[in-house]
Amino acid sequence: PEAITIQELANRMSERAVDVIRMLMKQGAMHKITDVIDADTAQLIAEELGHTVKRVAASDVEEGLFDQVDDSTDTETRSPVVTVMGHVDHGKTSLLDALRHANVVSGEAGGITQHIGAYQVSSPETGKKITFIDTPGHAAFTAMRARGAKVTDIVVLVVAADDGVMPQTVEAINHAKAAGVPIIVAINKIDKPDAKPERVRTELLQHEVQVESFGGDVVDVEVSAKNKTNLDKLLEMIALQAEILDLKTNSERPAEGTVIEAKLDRGRGPVATVLVQRGTLRVGDIIVAGAEMGRVRALISDQGETVQEAGPSVPVEVLGFNGPPEAGDRLAVVENEARARQVTSYRAHQKRENAAASISGMRGSLEQMMS
Ligand code: GDP
Ligand code: MG
Repeated sequence: PEAITIQELANRMSERAVDVIRMLMKQGAMHKITDVIDADTAQLIAEELGHTVKRVAASDVEEGLFDQVDDSTDTETRSPVVTVMGHVDHGKTSLLDALRHANVVSGEAGGITQHIGAYQVSSPETGKKITFIDTPGHAAFTAMRARGAKVTDIVVLVVAADDGVMPQTVEAINHAKAAGVPIIVAINKIDKPDAKPERVRTELLQHEVQVESFGGDVVDVEVSAKNKTNLDKLLEMIALQAEILDLKTNSERPAEGTVIEAKLDRGRGPVATVLVQRGTLRVGDIIVAGAEMGRVRALISDQGETVQEAGPSVPVEVLGFNGPPEAGDRLAVVENEARARQVTSYRAHQKRENAAASISGMRGSLEQMMS
């Protein structure tokens, strides 16, 4: 239901809130400045005060921002996007680090890599690229899913061979299944003397993850992040799974993507790591993500290099936002700044209204509790 606080309504009309309250009182309703009134009442009051009202629906504002429904023009193959999940201390960070250093896409100057929250490596056999989201953990995955962002094509489930399936392993399995994302199991720490990879496979079976040697279709790879054992094989299996998934995109359109992480950098201002998912993001593009907008001032690759554009499945740092968006916010390129302002001011307003509505809702239930 659409609603607005009295303060916000007054602001938008450049009227005093007290006059709005007086008007409402004339109609027999007592209100405080922080109260939320419904859209019909608000319209009535606005018209009484001599304003013309244009009701804007979410569909009007959001219309055409994303056209993910129409994938008929997605004919180019894109790289898979992989998230590493698993129980704490089973080696997610170690594995991500090892993969990142085992193989770096382009000639890397002096071995210095930038941490931007995601990176690409190429599969040793085919040279095809794989994108890893470098913010392991369920929090990121859950936050993104909660915002309706689908970024991950494949989950690499890390299970330590000396520890076996643990609570967060099960959680990760459930996340992947709920999202409909295929799992590749990395049985890690096989260098350890007490490693029991076979036990891991048996335990996985109890959670309906059936690996190939048990007659299922889930691929497992025994690895050691520490000794960099079988990392190439893991990359191969990911590439193979990606082929099966037949991931398609269209790079010849305005960019769409998802914010992986964002922060306010002292020197550089708002910085967002964005995974481009369709289209091509370019310097100069006018962008919106959540309630933030901006113009792309610079794009920085996972190699720390300044680039002019980023295509599908490419993670890139984006400079030029007016404020940092939130992880999981979807990014879209719009035609001009007026459009960007329309979208972000509407969303910022929705955010404030939702916050106000939930506070007044809380107050209501508090009053009920106390009466
Ligand atoms: P995370 O919590 O899943 O990110 O796990 P970490 O990557 O932080 O690893 C937890 C601990 O396991 C660290 O002490 C790592 O050095 C160790 N570790 C990770 N991978 C391996 C491995 O393949 N072999 C051995 N022996 N230790 C590992
Ligand atoms: Mg870690």
